[in-house]
Amino acid sequence: MRDPLRRRSFALLGSTGSVGVSTLALVERFPERFRAVALAAGRNMAVLAAQMHRHAPDLVSVADEASAADLRQRVPGFAGRILVGSAGPLAVATHPEADLVLSALVGALGLVPTLAAVRAGKHVALANKEVLVVAGELVTQAAREQGVTLLPVDSEHNAIFQALQGHNRAEVRRIVLTASGGPFLARSAAELATVTVVEALNHPTWKMGPKITIDSATLMNKGLEVIEARWLFDIDADHIDVVIHPQSIVHSMVEYIDGSVLAQMAVPDMTIPIGYALAYPARLPLDYLRPLDLPAAGTLTFVAPDRQRFPCLDLAYRALRAGGTMPAVLNAANEIAVERFLAEDLTYCEIPALVSAVMDAHEPAPASSLDVLLAADRWARDAARSSGVEERAAAQR
Ligand code: MG
Repeated sequence: MRDPLRRRSFALLGSTGSVGVSTLALVERFPERFRAVALAAGRNMAVLAAQMHRHAPDLVSVADEASAADLRQRVPGFAGRILVGSAGPLAVATHPEADLVLSALVGALGLVPTLAAVRAGKHVALANKEVLVVAGELVTQAAREQGVTLLPVDSEHNAIFQALQGHNRAEVRRIVLTASGGPFLARSAAELATVTVVEALNHPTWKMGPKITIDSATLMNKGLEVIEARWLFDIDADHIDVVIHPQSIVHSMVEYIDGSVLAQMAVPDMTIPIGYALAYPARLPLDYLRPLDLPAAGTLTFVAPDRQRFPCLDLAYRALRAGGTMPAVLNAANEIAVERFLAEDLTYCEIPALVSAVMDAHEPAPASSLDVLLAADRWARDAARSSGVEERAAAQR
């Protein structure tokens, strides 16, 4: 799709988060291949200032005036533009010099700028799964109209994207997403009732931000990835399966109609999917990473997910099958539930209970426009914030 030898200019939405930091570390390894022309961050000005010193972008965006004032003090000689508020990510996403936008803002925040990037004809490397969960139909339709490629950064979808290269989509029988199972794989239902925020934040194989780490512990992350896969690969819910693979070495698989299963394997390091998305269709020489040593790994195990202990997975399938605005409602209710869990205002087991209650109260409408989806998102957030979990827990007893 692009000349692999030309230096690629890209814009980064979410530069100070886990994926953003890994992306810019990769750019520093390959300065002759990539240039970050615009960075969107939030309030982490120490990290953003260091990134501006090293990458000299034309444009940065930050959450508010206080952050911008802080930033100007940290980078007094900065010659580019500093934008504030919601106009910032939009300007970053549509920067005229960027031919690729890496979308790594956390949560539904990334939706508007990512759709703007697609509509501006940018190829999009997608690390923010909520974009497709909330607005998969709109975003993929816009991508088709613009002739731009959506390059998955999520490790599972990146694996599937790789396993599809050179094959006929019509010959795919099903997609199998692998899940590490998170830190609570071996916990009984009774033990799950008492897990703490600290335990939930301690992911066994991946180092990520708090929202996605909690989503991994509840398996909601995998549920959101099922919805993401539906849109990225244009495949329905009945042909997407999930298998637990605690070692996180097989990153996902594609099964073809002849029974052949192609898997992508690698050490669990986000540098690999980020590098593949940035350099596609080329591969980067990442010889400084620890290679996959299968004899050292020893055993790779696979088990079916326990849908009773981890009800978030089926909530996501339910939202996908209901369609329209329901996945947006699932996603928004989950974001608030995770926020309330992190604030110790909700127990671990109340996360799926709250999401399910908000979905029960929603009548899905067709996903006809961004406004309709954003209204459903706002409604679900309000419903999830005001929902009294205590009454429901009492009702369940
Ligand atoms: Mg993933």
